Amino acid sequence: MNRTVRRIVIILIILILLPAAFLTINEMVSLNQNEKVIGRIYANQLDAILYSVNQYSEDIMNSWASKIDLFLDEVPKLKAKELPATVDSFYDQLPSLYMVFVADSVNDDKIDFLGWNDENNFISVDYSHFSTEIHNLLEKNQSLVKRLFTYKKSGYRKLEPVETDTSEGEAILLFIEETPQGENRITGIILDPKEFIYRIMSPKIQEIAQQEFVISVFNRAENFQFNSSIDFKVREVQQSKALWIFPNYKIGISLVGQTIDDLVKQRALTNILLIGLLTIVLILGMWIVYKNIKKEVEIAQIKSDFVSNVSHELRTPLSLISMFSETLEMGRVKTEEKKKEYYSIISQEANRLGKIVNSILNFSKMEAGKRQYNIVDSYLNDVAENVYRSYKFHLEHLGFTFSLIKDESIPIIKIDEEAVSEAIVNLVDNAVKYSDNNKEITIRTGKENNNAFVEVEDKGIGIAEKDQKKIFEKFFRVSSGYVHNVKGSGLGLSIVKYIMDAHKGEIRLISKVGEGSKFVVLFPLSKS
Ligand code: ADP
Repeated sequence: MNRTVRRIVIILIILILLPAAFLTINEMVSLNQNEKVIGRIYANQLDAILYSVNQYSEDIMNSWASKIDLFLDEVPKLKAKELPATVDSFYDQLPSLYMVFVADSVNDDKIDFLGWNDENNFISVDYSHFSTEIHNLLEKNQSLVKRLFTYKKSGYRKLEPVETDTSEGEAILLFIEETPQGENRITGIILDPKEFIYRIMSPKIQEIAQQEFVISVFNRAENFQFNSSIDFKVREVQQSKALWIFPNYKIGISLVGQTIDDLVKQRALTNILLIGLLTIVLILGMWIVYKNIKKEVEIAQIKSDFVSNVSHELRTPLSLISMFSETLEMGRVKTEEKKKEYYSIISQEANRLGKIVNSILNFSKMEAGKRQYNIVDSYLNDVAENVYRSYKFHLEHLGFTFSLIKDESIPIIKIDEEAVSEAIVNLVDNAVKYSDNNKEITIRTGKENNNAFVEVEDKGIGIAEKDQKKIFEKFFRVSSGYVHNVKGSGLGLSIVKYIMDAHKGEIRLISKVGEGSKFVVLFPLSKS
């Protein structure tokens, strides 16, 4: 790599790629933090939803407590015969409610059951068994009851669930309320949690969940699970909390379709993909910039080579001309023969100068698209023959075997004779320049498919595969080996290419290093 190019690449890396890399790393780190924050926010939101379900069930239970309390106050005023039906209809209003009991204190050994008492035993069961059970329960939960009393004293009725270990799976909640007589009574609510969940909580849960979440209430020990939407398994619950009113149960929430983890991962993945894409675009951009700079540097190099090549080409004939004309001027040449020889050298060198200047002028005209072509009906063989004739003597003098092989069947074609002749001259000039020891040049004409062609073949140094495309670019010269010693402007083949483009023709090259080159210019034959 050229030193300038290398320096520019290093600057580019420092200026663009390093900051981009830092940015990417920083972005990745902050991405992780962001995802954690998002995860937390999501979790908090889900928590809030679970909280609202809990709150709702507690509110219902509190309103039941109030109703029960009111009813208990009413019971003593009822007539004995009304009692069974009234109690019955009261229980009917509160679905899932099994039974309400009342105790004066934790040690009360005569527990009253709503609807079951000594006088009006309208349900025929042996309640003494229940009575003992509740008695034991209250004794076991003394500290809880004490807490409830403390709350009550500060004017706040609190409802607390009691741990139960009955096989029926019922739930018991206690609260303390004042009787109309001003005494405190411990009231217990015994209910079926499953029925409560299905009948009381489920409509509300479905309303909260809608299509966005699945809210579940479950009890793993009893292998029970209620879900706000069907087809949902226990293990899929993402986040859960204890249900306040039934401590054996939990409420859980899950996003429909995707978990929070999925969402977070998906977001992280999208961001990483975007960053990756950005990096690729940056690298691509850098590569393009690098390519352009490299090309610019190459062109600058080629241009400077061109100037030095052309100057050299101009200087040689100029110095010869000035040297010989000065010698003549000073009258140092005595014989006519010598004078003639010097005049001929001066004229030859002036010709060479003219050729160089012409090719540069021609080239700049072509580049500007200003060259006019005079396309007329012509014989390609005649054009080739004219070039051959004008070079024959000169080339044979230089030791070349120079031949022309014509295909007489080529029809008249439309070309600019002068331009085509210039193209062939350029090819022959190159064949001469790059021939080294094997001095053999052939001009051949012919037909191929719908084309007429002229080819110039030499047995010279040949052109390496990698350079074969480049040699038609302006200023390009193969920079190594033999070519280095041969002077040239790097314009000859570009001029040939321009001329062939103007004829809608084509130029082809067949060449092998050390074996020679064959340049073929093809002209389309008109359909007529
Ligand atoms: P110039 O001959 O003035 O350098 P050209 O455009 O005519 O410029 O040719 C470009 C390059 O192609 C040459 O420098 C030379 O390296 C290579 N080249 C052209 N013709 C031949 C040939 N007949 N044999 C080998 N190399 C050639």
